[in-house]
Amino acid sequence: PLVLGIETSCDDTGAAVVDDHGNVVGDALNSQTKTHVELGGIIPPIARDLHQKNIDSVVTQALELAIVNLQDLDAIAVTVKPGLALSLRVGLQHAKMLAQQSGLPLIPIHHMEAHALTTRMIERVDFPFLVLLASGGHCLLAVARDVSDFLLLGTGLDDSPGDAFDKTARQLKLKNLPECEGLSGGAAIELLAKGGNPRAFPFPQVMTQLPDCHFSFSGVKFAAKKLIEAEEARLNTSPSSVVSSAPDICASFQYAVLHHIARRLQRAFLFCELTNLLPKDKTLVVSGGVASNSYLRSGLQQVCEMNSCNLVCPPPHLCTDNGIMIAWNGMEKLLQGTGCTHDLETLDIEPRCPLGRDISQEVIAAA
Ligand code: ATP
Ligand code: FE
Repeated sequence: PLVLGIETSCDDTGAAVVDDHGNVVGDALNSQTKTHVELGGIIPPIARDLHQKNIDSVVTQALELAIVNLQDLDAIAVTVKPGLALSLRVGLQHAKMLAQQSGLPLIPIHHMEAHALTTRMIERVDFPFLVLLASGGHCLLAVARDVSDFLLLGTGLDDSPGDAFDKTARQLKLKNLPECEGLSGGAAIELLAKGGNPRAFPFPQVMTQLPDCHFSFSGVKFAAKKLIEAEEARLNTSPSSVVSSAPDICASFQYAVLHHIARRLQRAFLFCELTNLLPKDKTLVVSGGVASNSYLRSGLQQVCEMNSCNLVCPPPHLCTDNGIMIAWNGMEKLLQGTGCTHDLETLDIEPRCPLGRDISQEVIAAA
């Protein structure tokens, strides 16, 4: 079987065709990152307009690369939740139009479930496993028990880690550096941090007293803002220049983010051991745009080693948004015989939709 996947939940227009062995037979992506970095953040109507402008050519390109017509497919998977309403709508409308044209069933996809399960298309990871998603809109820890069965251990209480990376990069004016041309805020910080000292600046530790798996990044984001202002004043930096201590700031910021995530992960391991939610030879899957950061990955690898856990990270291009993960999630549902619908009328978007069943209160109670 072949499934076409369509992704427009945020700022990337993606389409891909995958087969049941996890082969990507056609893939196309139009990223809006450059526009949004220039505008200083995602402006939903602009994201919608760019999706509208590009969706047809992205889908056509994916089909052409796959050398297939709509008639050769078995289903069309499309992200319907969660995400920006204006963006989600463009993808769903286009998918409905294609379904009407071809008579193919649609498979509605939860964007975060797709992030969590992408890795299964390239290597064997059996259920249940622990999953950490850190991205532009989310941070969460969950147990994946089946294709459509998740337990949510903890989630972000305020800003996402991606937002903390993006705003810090912006405050540092990293887009003015030639080497950061075209990079997302997170990727720019990772690049600069390579030449910095992670212990150069102390960051406040957040939520160290709370025995849960929730995340908070507004504290590190605010601390970074104050630190950059202080450094610019101390070093008398001109308004359009990047402060000379930027590598140390980036490295220290990354260290603070890693430290917070590592503590939450440790907490999740404890809870899962207590409740036998995971098998003895357990696996952690780490995905999402922020999780493509190799410094974070190597830090999380250490936490996994201490907990006899196997760490699995999809390659970075599969961590950020793309059509492939949507197509693959559709394929897994198709193979299970679930998820397909011909009822185009009632199928709608759900901009807010948590991943799975929330058991964060049980995590706190178990402490
Ligand atoms: P969500 O999936 O939560 O709806 P999203 O899909 O928009 O959000 P992703 O595409 O997964 O998010 O990730 C984008 C975010 O990842 C951006 O905030 C970007 O700065 C960040 N990011 C990308 N590369 C890196 C990196 N190497 N280090 C840290 N952050 C990164
Ligand atoms: Fe995403």
